[in-house]
Amino acid sequence: MCGIVGYTGKQKAYPILINGLKALEYRGYDSAGIALFESGKLKISKEKGRVKNLDDNSDLKSSNSSIGIAHTRWATHGVPSSDNAHPHLDNSGNFAVVHNGIIENYLELKEFLSKNGYKFKSETDTEVIPNLIHYYYEKEKDFLQAFNRTIKDLKGSYAILVLSPLFDGIYVAKMNSPLVIGEGEDENFIASDIPAVLEYTKNFYFLNDGDLAYITNNSLVFYNNDLKEVNIPKKVIDWDKNAADKNGYEDFMLKEIFEQPRAINETLAGRIILEDKCNFLDINIDSKYLKNVNKIYIVACGTAMHAGRVGKTVLEELTDIVTIVDVASEFRYNYQVIDKNTLCIFISQSGETADTIAALKLAKKNGAKTIAISNVIGSSITREADYTIYTHAGPEIAVASTKAYVSQISTISALAIYFAEILQVKDITYLEKLKKELLDIPEKIDDILKNSENYKKIAKDIHNVKNCFYIGRGNDYTTAMEGSLKLKEIAYIHSEAYPAGELKHGPIALIEDGTSVIGIITNKKILEKTISNLQEVITRGAKVVLVTDCNYENNDMIIINIPKTNYLFAPILAIVPLQLIAYYVAKEKNLDVDKPRNLAKSVTVE
Ligand code: GLU
Repeated sequence: MCGIVGYTGKQKAYPILINGLKALEYRGYDSAGIALFESGKLKISKEKGRVKNLDDNSDLKSSNSSIGIAHTRWATHGVPSSDNAHPHLDNSGNFAVVHNGIIENYLELKEFLSKNGYKFKSETDTEVIPNLIHYYYEKEKDFLQAFNRTIKDLKGSYAILVLSPLFDGIYVAKMNSPLVIGEGEDENFIASDIPAVLEYTKNFYFLNDGDLAYITNNSLVFYNNDLKEVNIPKKVIDWDKNAADKNGYEDFMLKEIFEQPRAINETLAGRIILEDKCNFLDINIDSKYLKNVNKIYIVACGTAMHAGRVGKTVLEELTDIVTIVDVASEFRYNYQVIDKNTLCIFISQSGETADTIAALKLAKKNGAKTIAISNVIGSSITREADYTIYTHAGPEIAVASTKAYVSQISTISALAIYFAEILQVKDITYLEKLKKELLDIPEKIDDILKNSENYKKIAKDIHNVKNCFYIGRGNDYTTAMEGSLKLKEIAYIHSEAYPAGELKHGPIALIEDGTSVIGIITNKKILEKTISNLQEVITRGAKVVLVTDCNYENNDMIIINIPKTNYLFAPILAIVPLQLIAYYVAKEKNLDVDKPRNLAKSVTVE
């Protein structure tokens, strides 16, 4: 998920690699490392913490080596530590590997390699890669063959660089993780993102998933996964540095909105298994315990709390266990009926949210079993909870949460299906259908993201309104809450979310000519009811936008059609147009969408 840099040429590699890592720091990281090839030997140095820390302490600083690979890690498997930092070596010490991504079947591969005598020094998924390379190299005696057999065994996502005394250049492979190759004169560069090497070249090659490459000072050879040489067109990139950090997007928030399909794919990978049981190795919860659970609490703040509200619907429908959602800062001071048969789930993107951590400690003190859902490995909440399930959304930099939100909902949805399988209270065919629906969500988000122009137009219409209402029923009400929060956070427009049926119990008094009302309908059963509520506000002068998957037509409102999915998961799709509307409204008002006023990314005070 984090940063990779590789260099081979005539210059000293160390400063180029370190500068490249620094340019990738915006991707988030917890440790860094570097491997150089010097006097016939691989030399490695790695440190926990910032790239600066590596630079301050590395004894490779004065090396004259002109070939090397480097990595900033954003841990997915194993805590941030220098042992877990990359590069990782195989047992023979001949292959140094840096890797971005997740190897989903690493346990299986580790077991296989262990049986074949390999020993492991880290807790990472990555360490299986150099050892598997060695295993196949012993058989094939040809690196490219061995490398290709290795990557064919890997399930998941990876961008991999390999450095070895057995060859002159750097071998590269890519699958579902970003990787670019920059071409210079008598030197070449490899990086997970363009900004890492943009100061040296503007000529780039973009590998396709499944491709491999061999890069030396003066040659670039690309292979497909049948090891046939392929041509990849050169692209000239003339971004300035600022655009490059954001991978060409104007802001981190927009980049992160577009990263949502990938974030969900990575989060579900290896957990939702079609035609087999779900796999939640992260938690040790059995049917005996689950059958005795008297209720589930989901506790969180802000956007994460909205993810919890969607999670409640899925959990209740699939497990028949009463589920209560509470705001962390309230939970702490409310009277709680909690005992050892209460399961408490805490959600925090950063894992550092002070109120959520305090609530977790309280629940633990009262004897509950606790699960943390977090995006940051080793964060405080993960150290307090009995179990942790990580969302694999990758670092989220914009203050307003987007990809972490949809990943949190995906995580609880997958967890609910897992519980339902353990409890055996729901029809297996229905659960199988749900799994398929969940796995299809990323592609449907891609479809929604294609309509950006449409959202820009809507944003133009509403950017100078004073008040905006979001309404919906059930899960659509939760989407209304999250949509409204996004508009407040980044566009500074006063907005309220209401259960559609509640409008006439008070707030309808505020509707006047030109008030914006955004309706959400993703459940056919309540289509007519919510439509009636929208008609009531149209009659009173409101301008209405409707987000729906119900195939509904009405000339009195602007309708945004989204793809259909099971209504339990519809909030993951319905929020995407609302994120984009809030984003474009903020842009229309010339606001800093990534760093909205008065807000911080991780709320570490109570
Ligand atoms: N899964 C690997 C690890 O946890 C790589 C993480 C990354 O992409 O930084 O070490």
